[in-house]
Amino acid sequence: SGRLLEVEDLRVEFRTRDGVAKVINGVTYHVDAGETLAVLGESGSGKSVTAQTIMGILDSPPGFVTGGEIRFHGKDMLKMSTEERRRIRAEGIAMVFQDALSALNPLFTVGFQIAEQFRIRRGMSRGDAKKRAAEMLDLVKIPNAKQRVNEYPHQFSGGMRQRVMIAMSLALDPEVLIADEPTTALDVTVQAQIMDLLADLQRERQMGLILITHDLGVVADVADRIAVMYAGRIVEEANVHELYAKPAHPYTIGLLESIPRIDEKGQQLRTIRGLPPSLINIPSGCPFHPRCPMAQAVCPEKLPPLLRLGSTRASACHFAEELVKRD
Ligand code: SF4
Ligand code: MG
Repeated sequence: SGRLLEVEDLRVEFRTRDGVAKVINGVTYHVDAGETLAVLGESGSGKSVTAQTIMGILDSPPGFVTGGEIRFHGKDMLKMSTEERRRIRAEGIAMVFQDALSALNPLFTVGFQIAEQFRIRRGMSRGDAKKRAAEMLDLVKIPNAKQRVNEYPHQFSGGMRQRVMIAMSLALDPEVLIADEPTTALDVTVQAQIMDLLADLQRERQMGLILITHDLGVVADVADRIAVMYAGRIVEEANVHELYAKPAHPYTIGLLESIPRIDEKGQQLRTIRGLPPSLINIPSGCPFHPRCPMAQAVCPEKLPPLLRLGSTRASACHFAEELVKRD
């Protein structure tokens, strides 16, 4: 297949003292070159764990991959040699985390930390690597890059630190960038600037970008497609316009209703009732049924499969077709 990165029927469990937590229960998604996929869900939906599994951060206990494939250019990474897999995770796919401060080493200058990659992976001299590091800071629009390579992480603001993280992740020119809640810790204005930067870099470099978020509002302008996750499954997938115009899953409807709108200041924000389910004891049938305002008798009985509703969208609700047909 010509796909860049594909996850297919991925299954991950955590064996905890309290029991087996089924955190990923058959997730399938893909991202192609030059495309942005947003993966949306509440905390505990499995969106981060899927990404961590792609990056190999979860290969060891208590997390276990119990099924599925992660294909990079059509080749299953879970069946590759350790060496081949390690190379892809170092150079082919990069990840930006939510908390830049804890991801950066406080004891080294940011320039040193970026330059290390050029030295280790590209065999560059110290001087050349440092020059490249300054170019990377420039790429992510950090002013005075030539001076700032010599500064330490704590000397940067939260937003600038996140730019450093992005620079570091792009150093080896990855084909796929995964950003896990990259702006959650930042204020709204800075969030928008970082999202714009990511969108620009994605376009310029024709990367596949996976944006993980709990906030639909943050990704609306930059995503091409959205995959909504709940209890370790994809419950809806659609392009952004379709999803906004007519969500085909009650959970997505709830998420859309809980986005604060600037033009409706002072209005009570609606949130989805109840709490995300325990992954050790996932509700029977449709896992969303205890919280779903549309639930019927069939819902606790039968697990709705993720069904295609057309060429670009899919939903895992027994009543998806009715939802799509409504006015
Ligand atoms: Fe709600 Fe039933 Fe649809 Fe699940 S299958 S989302 S419980 S209506
Ligand atoms: Mg997370």
